[in-house]
Amino acid sequence: MQILDSIIIGAGPAGMTAGIYLARSGRSCVIVEAGVAGGQVFINHLVENYPGFPEPIKGSELAELMEKQVRRLGVEIKNSLVTSINKEKDHFLVKGYNLELKSRTLIYAAGSKPRPLGIPGEERLFGSGVSYCSTCDGMFFKGKDVVVIGGGNSALHGAEYLEKICSSVSLVHRRDEFRGDLMLVERLKGSGRVKMLLSYEPLEVLGDKKVDSLRLKDVKTGKTLDLKCDGVFIYVGYQPQSELLKGLCDMDDYGYVLTDNSMSSSLKGLYCAGDIVKKAHRQMVTATSDGCIAALGVNEYLNKNK
Ligand code: NAP
Repeated sequence: MQILDSIIIGAGPAGMTAGIYLARSGRSCVIVEAGVAGGQVFINHLVENYPGFPEPIKGSELAELMEKQVRRLGVEIKNSLVTSINKEKDHFLVKGYNLELKSRTLIYAAGSKPRPLGIPGEERLFGSGVSYCSTCDGMFFKGKDVVVIGGGNSALHGAEYLEKICSSVSLVHRRDEFRGDLMLVERLKGSGRVKMLLSYEPLEVLGDKKVDSLRLKDVKTGKTLDLKCDGVFIYVGYQPQSELLKGLCDMDDYGYVLTDNSMSSSLKGLYCAGDIVKKAHRQMVTATSDGCIAALGVNEYLNKNK
């Protein structure tokens, strides 16, 4: 079996940027992706903070442009769910559905997945009114009443997307100040079509076979309230998809990988990039930046370890 210079796991902005840089350094590499190229960006309704796009661009469009660039440079994106990663002497062995690959280095850029709230009813009614993705599921709620939970950019973008489709959108946040960008908050307030319920804590998703209402607690008075709705969109952050790296390299208690300033993990030859990495800020530009640094690090490593 051919031993590649590198395998990149994840075709989000971090993985695709790593692919661009490795291809331009003349390194053999393959990107493996379980879903669609673009990762979280693909499901972002609008992106307006990525330099070079003066007008807001749909996340899916930006993801497709990145994928085109990667493919033009000759990097193959294989569609498979990776099930194991092992380091054997001087190479990595990656196995997945219909997949077995070997490489001298590996760039892990598998990103993150939505973090559940962990309240009663959430798991039971997932797919029956509970969702973590407005662009994927919003159309199922056309003309209906929905609630968005969270105060970060994901929740604000989600509310902005849904207010154009749904009959009503209530945005529930546990504090009276949003965490997300002021510009987005102002725009939502300006539209006047999103009802803001600040300082409310979600307690339970109610409904028999589908969502019927959301039970909330007014943090200031302690009183509870059942808010009638057909859908509940949960945006309370993300968690790293780093299960496959357990035991291979150092991570923090939450599963974020510890890297040095060349994105190298504690395991020789294993680099990480994007949302999987322990760092202060997770944005698309920071993910692409990580991907670039990881690829340059890999190139240097391969030069030193011929
Ligand atoms: P986030 O910024 O971590 O915000 C999570 C929100 O959920 C916070 O407002 C938090 O409240 C709330 N929350 C957490 N646990 C909760 C609980 N148990 N009950 C109720 N509320 C809870 O996550 P995010 O919005 O998904 O964003 C993640 C990163 O991606 C951020 O860096 C964000 O800027 C970035 N992002 C960027 C874009 C863009 O630029 N286009 C779009 C989306 C996301 P508190 O505020 O009280 O902690």
